[in-house]
Amino acid sequence: MFFRKKKEVKPEIFTEESCPACGVKSRRKFEDGDYVFKPATVCKNCSSPNTIISAVYGEYPPETHKN
Ligand SMILES: [Zn+2]
Repeated sequence: MFFRKKKEVKPEIFTEESCPACGVKSRRKFEDGDYVFKPATVCKNCSSPNTIISAVYGEYPPETHKN
């Protein structure tokens, strides 16, 4: 038995990391265990190890139109 796919589109979850040292923000796909203010990875811009997750949010993909 199949579930019929409705038109409902699930939002894609993104995690935003920000670096307090240089102010750079980067966005990546959400991973399990991510939460706001969690220490994040090393900054790609200035190599500061003090980056944190500043936001987690869902975003709907752009709507695709049927032909
Ligand atoms: Zn930085």
